Amino acid sequence: MITVLEPATEAALAEIPAADEEQLDAAVARAKESYPTWRALAPGERARKLRELTLALEHHHEELAQLEARNVGKPIADARAEMAMVIDTFGYYAGAPEWPHGDTIPVAGGQAFTVREPLGVVGLITPWNFPLLIASWKLAPALAAGNTVVLKPAVLTPMTALRFEEIASEAGIPEGVVNVLVGSGATVGQRLVEHPDVAKIAFTGSTEVGRQIAAGAAPTIKRVTLELGGKSPNIVFADADLARAAAAAPGAVFGNAGQDCCARSRILVQREAIDEFMHALGEAVRSMRVGDPLDERTQMGPLISAGQRETVSSFLNDGAPIAIRGSAPDGPGYWFAPTVLAPVDPGARAAREEIFGPIAVVIPFVDEADAVALANDTIYGLSGSVWTRDGAKALRVARALQCGVLSINSNTSVRVATPFGGFKQSGYGRELGPDALDAYSEVKSIFFATS
Ligand code: NAD
Repeated sequence: MITVLEPATEAALAEIPAADEEQLDAAVARAKESYPTWRALAPGERARKLRELTLALEHHHEELAQLEARNVGKPIADARAEMAMVIDTFGYYAGAPEWPHGDTIPVAGGQAFTVREPLGVVGLITPWNFPLLIASWKLAPALAAGNTVVLKPAVLTPMTALRFEEIASEAGIPEGVVNVLVGSGATVGQRLVEHPDVAKIAFTGSTEVGRQIAAGAAPTIKRVTLELGGKSPNIVFADADLARAAAAAPGAVFGNAGQDCCARSRILVQREAIDEFMHALGEAVRSMRVGDPLDERTQMGPLISAGQRETVSSFLNDGAPIAIRGSAPDGPGYWFAPTVLAPVDPGARAAREEIFGPIAVVIPFVDEADAVALANDTIYGLSGSVWTRDGAKALRVARALQCGVLSINSNTSVRVATPFGGFKQSGYGRELGPDALDAYSEVKSIFFATS
């Protein structure tokens, strides 16, 4: 049995049975059996089923948000916004079965054209920080493209995925098309990656586990997409609207208690603006409301687990000065106050490793070239921000940064209709937007002789 905890209270939320490898094999067999029928549905019929699922999710919006807020310890306002994006993601891809695709290609002696075919059974492996949101970015395009799925959520946060499976069934998604299995990564996850009947693994999680997934998928030449870790820069030039940049910075790194792959955890500030920026940042950090996730006014909740708090705490012991410290509740719960280390040497561990907690580092820079060099000096390349009033400079820097998602005078990273994913060791493949469908289908080239 797995005891699922509420990180804000350390109380048990649920006891659920842990699946083993045999149950994983059975789930893959169910998905394999249901594939031919799901794939053969007329496009309009598959679209209708996905629209019905979207409506069912909308009906359960508040229930799912409450469950996610309690299981992850995230503020209820954030959980509601995430569930709204889950619904929008299904709504967007519900139309996809009927989107035009393929090309006609001029060749001699006949007609050549391409079609897209689904892959078959797709394995989805997700992390604990945005459980149903990240699952929806995989589930919706995978199902729309005609695949059937086995989803393995993180053991710490399986609740909304399990509820999703029930809602999908109630909404009329045929038996065996969506299978959710809760079990450890090392056993059930590994088996899913190696399973000969699984055509593809879509993984979101740490870079370390991503390497194991890529290696485990190699013997069966599985398709793999990887959304991995990050250490994203938030570059603030002296000519930026400093008040806006500073007011927005805490949300961009302390949102979800810093447990966000897109967290702008390296704040790079041009030297001449550093005093003014730090003053405004201090006010913004100290005014953050950290506390009960179910309180409507809460902006930051606890960390996911005692182990995560220990890992995050270890970054305070490396000698980088604590410049700003917010507040956090005492007592039960895995609390950690929002913290800014400054100034931090770019070579320090806190400036190089993904902390995945509410610690930001501030690194001063001299000019545009220095900012770009510092920002790119990392194994990661997920997201980033540039703050400046100089449009040409913003575009130059945006093109020079090695990352998959970038925002100018904003810290946003994800939208349903735009592609999301990383450069370098932040992974490969893209989720969301029209591009995601390519990751759940193969191109087939057909030649029809006319002579
Ligand atoms: P994790 O890598 O420890 O686990 C992710 C999932 O993989 C879990 O379901 C886990 O059970 C499973 N797993 C673990 N070992 C496995 C194995 N050998 N074979 C198959 N599956 C296995 O990550 P986490 O701690 O749950 O999440 C935090 C990490 O996820 C951070 O590094 C964060 O940056 C990353 N993340 C990335 C994105 C993105 O889109 N790029 C989004 C969210 C989180």
